[in-house]
Amino acid sequence: MKKYVYFFGGGAAEGDMTMKNLLGGKGANLAEMAGIGLPVPPGFTVSTEVCDLYYKSRKTIPAGVKAEIEKNLKKLEKAAGQGFGDPKDPLLVSIRSGARASMPGMMDTILNLGLNEKTVAGLIAKTSNPRFAYDCYRRFVQMYGDVVLGLKPVNKDDIDPFEAIIEQKKHEMGIESDTDLSADDLKDLVARFKAAIKNKTGHDFPEDPMKQLWGAIGSVFGSWMNERAIAYRKLYDIPESWGTAVNVQLMVFGNMGRDSGTGVAFTRDAATGADTFYGEYLMNAQGEDVVAGIRTPLPIADLKKDDPKAHAQLEKIRHILEKHYADMMDIEFTIQQGKLYMLQCRVGKRTAFAAIKIAVDMVDEKLISEKEALKRIEPDQLNQLLRPIFDPAEKDAAIKGGRLLAKGLNAGPGAATGRLVFNSVDAEAWAKRGEKVILTRIETSPEDIKGMNAAEGILTARGGMTSHAALVARQMGRVCVAGCSELAIDYGRHVMTVNGKTLKEGDWISIDGTTGQVIEGKIQTKPSEVLQVLIEKSLDPKKAPVYQTFAKVMAWADAHRTLRIRTNADQPDQSANAVAFGAEGIGLCRTEHMFFGEGKIGPMREMILADTLEQRKIALAKLLPLQRKDFAGIFEVMAGRPVTIRTIDPPLHEFLPHEEKDQRALAAEMGISYEKIKERVASLHEFNPMLGFRGCRLGIIYPEITEMQARAVFEAAAATKKKGIDVGPEVMIPLVGHVKELAHQEKLVRQTAEAVMKEQGVTFKYLVGTMIEIPRGAITADEIASVAEFFSFGTNDLTQTTLGVSRDDAGRFLRPYVDKEIYAKDPFEVIDRDGVGQLMRMAVERGRKTRPGIKLGICGEHGGDPSSIEFCHLIGLNYVSCSPFRVPIARLAAARAALLNAPETKTSKAAKSKKAGRKR
Ligand code: ADP
Ligand code: MG
Ligand code: MG
Repeated sequence: MKKYVYFFGGGAAEGDMTMKNLLGGKGANLAEMAGIGLPVPPGFTVSTEVCDLYYKSRKTIPAGVKAEIEKNLKKLEKAAGQGFGDPKDPLLVSIRSGARASMPGMMDTILNLGLNEKTVAGLIAKTSNPRFAYDCYRRFVQMYGDVVLGLKPVNKDDIDPFEAIIEQKKHEMGIESDTDLSADDLKDLVARFKAAIKNKTGHDFPEDPMKQLWGAIGSVFGSWMNERAIAYRKLYDIPESWGTAVNVQLMVFGNMGRDSGTGVAFTRDAATGADTFYGEYLMNAQGEDVVAGIRTPLPIADLKKDDPKAHAQLEKIRHILEKHYADMMDIEFTIQQGKLYMLQCRVGKRTAFAAIKIAVDMVDEKLISEKEALKRIEPDQLNQLLRPIFDPAEKDAAIKGGRLLAKGLNAGPGAATGRLVFNSVDAEAWAKRGEKVILTRIETSPEDIKGMNAAEGILTARGGMTSHAALVARQMGRVCVAGCSELAIDYGRHVMTVNGKTLKEGDWISIDGTTGQVIEGKIQTKPSEVLQVLIEKSLDPKKAPVYQTFAKVMAWADAHRTLRIRTNADQPDQSANAVAFGAEGIGLCRTEHMFFGEGKIGPMREMILADTLEQRKIALAKLLPLQRKDFAGIFEVMAGRPVTIRTIDPPLHEFLPHEEKDQRALAAEMGISYEKIKERVASLHEFNPMLGFRGCRLGIIYPEITEMQARAVFEAAAATKKKGIDVGPEVMIPLVGHVKELAHQEKLVRQTAEAVMKEQGVTFKYLVGTMIEIPRGAITADEIASVAEFFSFGTNDLTQTTLGVSRDDAGRFLRPYVDKEIYAKDPFEVIDRDGVGQLMRMAVERGRKTRPGIKLGICGEHGGDPSSIEFCHLIGLNYVSCSPFRVPIARLAAARAALLNAPETKTSKAAKSKKAGRKR
């Protein structure tokens, strides 16, 4: 018979950490911890396969599985020495969800299940602590009422109905803190909760523990499909098919008095990566109290005073876990009357800073290899290292000027400035309008995910370093200040007061996630350490520890990648930045961008408006020295590295004004009639300019344009060469679909090159090649390669033409397409491997067949996207080219592509998933 339920506890377990697919992350790690002898309360895990069965059986648990669960419950009763529903000594359990990938806060946990009017009496008799018993009971009814019976806030500005009842009760009793509620008060709350549930939902609260259990398990499976879980999965690409597991575990109590407590911790500092124990705890508290932000917890170091024994034991466990998992772990623990229990562990989420530092440190500590370190750093995390910080002078001035509003916890480093909004819906809406916003909440919950994603930064009034806001912000790379208790936020009126000042929605505010400062108004931001070293050269690398770590990772990445990295740049300064970031060449220099530069648009327009070849040549002669100067600047910066220069690509109408007012001004300036300009613009009008008179078509009809551009390139090359600087010009002809188009242009380019070399008396190597960006070009790549010395995939156009989708018009339907999973990802962001990718693969094969040494690269926007870079690696391109600021990301992505697709990794991966026993 197939096994659906796995027991753990008593120093042994039926599962282990390799079984995440089946047991979920939480269940697999509980089993692992129990297996290596850590103190884990016993329990069992109902596998993710049951989630699937649950939905297939119209949201019921099949009888066979039910029987298996009952059997394991018996086993748990035996392990605990208690009976489920036993009025004398009741077994209480928690019901915990756990998917394969950790989804913080996505699924709801129910604690203290098994309590009812009879068993609560048993709990009192056993503990002689009625307050504790009723505290457990009211928590249970509250959680069950919310999660299973569905009594939740209705509107975004509402407070939780159970919290409302508690507030009312505290008000009636004239007390401030939850901890001042007496046993009788709590007992009364239980009654009021039950009444509210009955009243608002029509459900009686179930007294029968078995009924409670089935309800809770069903509800965990049910929550897999709730809105916020779906939103989270979308955001992090978690397939719906994975499902969640359910863990049923013996309760331990952190709320039994002053000798009890609960906490969460990271085995290293999750914000900075420092090798120190990092976490928070509360004495006399249960479960979510620490993360929910109801009371502000204490730093873990204080536990040394509160419970030195538990603290020492935790320190030991921290090292055991890091050694065992070879990673930084995130743990949950509870102390019940001085005895420590481990309730969860998983690989800890961390900031980009921390991810990089921990990976590098763990290499030094010999816990992991250099390769493993590279695999652990997501390319996009590097982005965070490149993000701005506040200009210190301006921040100082703001603080001296009395604009420091308050200080909270530095939960997500970085600097953010934006306008205040008080709920997630508004944050999304404002961001959509292009506003920068700071999402400000009393505390955040999983419902706020989308708003948090849309915000520049997140500010909360309650909660600690491990609160929901802090965790999610760090993962998203958002700046976050949490637990800023001076803030009094009024959701209803959309205002907050802080130290006597009132700020309203839309007001500017600045938050420093590195120090926790909250400052009124806007503050200029400043480049990060890495940028100060590499780009501004204003910081000594020796004084820049973040930069040093970054540099180490980059050096490792360079040692392991096979792809070369180029950049898309058309200015000398852009090129210099890219080189500083590690670019090894220019993959795309767009000459048309140069025409918009100073003094160039005039002759360009003259050229377009010319009636005769002679007039056109006169205009082109004016452009020649200007272009030559641009190219020379780039060649100098690139110092012999390859520079791919594309001949003019866009339709000519883009260079002329379209408004009558501007056309009249241009006419006056050029001394020609307005009608003439109007007529020329009209004649250049096209129904579909994207498929119109552009690319090599321009150079074929007006060969003098290509000639001029080639001359500018080669004269610049000659001049640079004469200065003693090496050059590597590569002229690239766009939009080629037929080999004869390329042959026509190639001839012009070569003739010009030879002429220039003769005139200037220098020689230099150069290449002529083409973009592969329309399907015919890819299909006839073998023919095209007889002329082209290189191909560069123009995946923007290739995607448009392969999909038959205009990028500029796609907004209306492409997003919904992605939502409907017609395309898994926006094909303009991530290469559509099965469509566009197949054309690329074909072009690579056919091109190499004709010309084995052909250089192959990509210069579309995809060249900076990690998944697309991986694909380029897989089909054997020589290089990718991306914007200067993405160069470090591309270097790392290229290394990871090489490492993750190395033959030995593949086999070990396969072996692992076999061991896990299931593939979906
Ligand atoms: P999440 O996935 O949101 O972290 P958990 O299942 O870990 O949810 O549970 C929420 C809280 O309840 C945690 O603080 C956890 O430590 C606590 N908890 C869960 N099970 C037990 C238990 N058996 N005894 C005591 N506390 C528990
Ligand atoms: Mg947890
Ligand atoms: Mg193109």
